Amino acid sequence: MTSEQPRIERRGLLLVLSSPSGAGKTSLARALLDTDPDIRLSVSATTRKPRPGEVDGEDYWFVDEAKFKAMIEADEFLEWATVFGNYYGTPRAPIEAAVSKGRDVLFDIDWQGTQQLAERMAGELVRVFVLPPSGEALEARLKRRAQDPDHVVAKRMAGAAAEISHWAEYDYVIVNGDLGESIAGLKAILAAERHKRERMTGLTAFVRDLQAALT
Ligand code: 5GP
Repeated sequence: MTSEQPRIERRGLLLVLSSPSGAGKTSLARALLDTDPDIRLSVSATTRKPRPGEVDGEDYWFVDEAKFKAMIEADEFLEWATVFGNYYGTPRAPIEAAVSKGRDVLFDIDWQGTQQLAERMAGELVRVFVLPPSGEALEARLKRRAQDPDHVVAKRMAGAAAEISHWAEYDYVIVNGDLGESIAGLKAILAAERHKRERMTGLTAFVRDLQAALT
């Protein structure tokens, strides 16, 4: 008996992570990307200014408002929204290419973008909402991050309640108290979704060959 794992063709899935800022979504996303070579991050375009350490083309494509609006006009976004007064959007071309090649894509986008993806790519979409374990924990994380000025932190706290009100529009919820446990939960969700029969486009042929080999 060989331990060889046959590769069965399947459609790529779009794994969306949404949460209020400070709930630990970015750490979760990084942990998944660092340990799973089969999922890539969708790099959004934004008009927000880069934070210290953020790299153009890795964290975001940092663009000015004129460029962002030109991209909207040219229908280059799969979805876009304004969040805290800045524009954010998902460039369409890399996502369509990935899905058609059976590659999985991770999205760090808000509820508005998730609703637009649900209208356009429902079959591929897996929605995960990340909640903080408490209000105090969220505030502490936002302050600890301290990369944003105070008035921005205050705006993000106020925005958190609005973002959280959309939790029921998601397929899965992770309450992020312990990061290790949350990462394990996220990986379990991804593993289960990859095994969904409807995604395994190559299964019929695989089972036919298997049956032929047995008879
Ligand atoms: P931040 O400025 O903290 O990086 O992101 C602020 C919010 O914008 C987060 O909730 C993040 O998920 C969301 N966001 C980032 N990129 C996109 C995008 O391409 N589309 C949408 N709709 N939201 C985004």
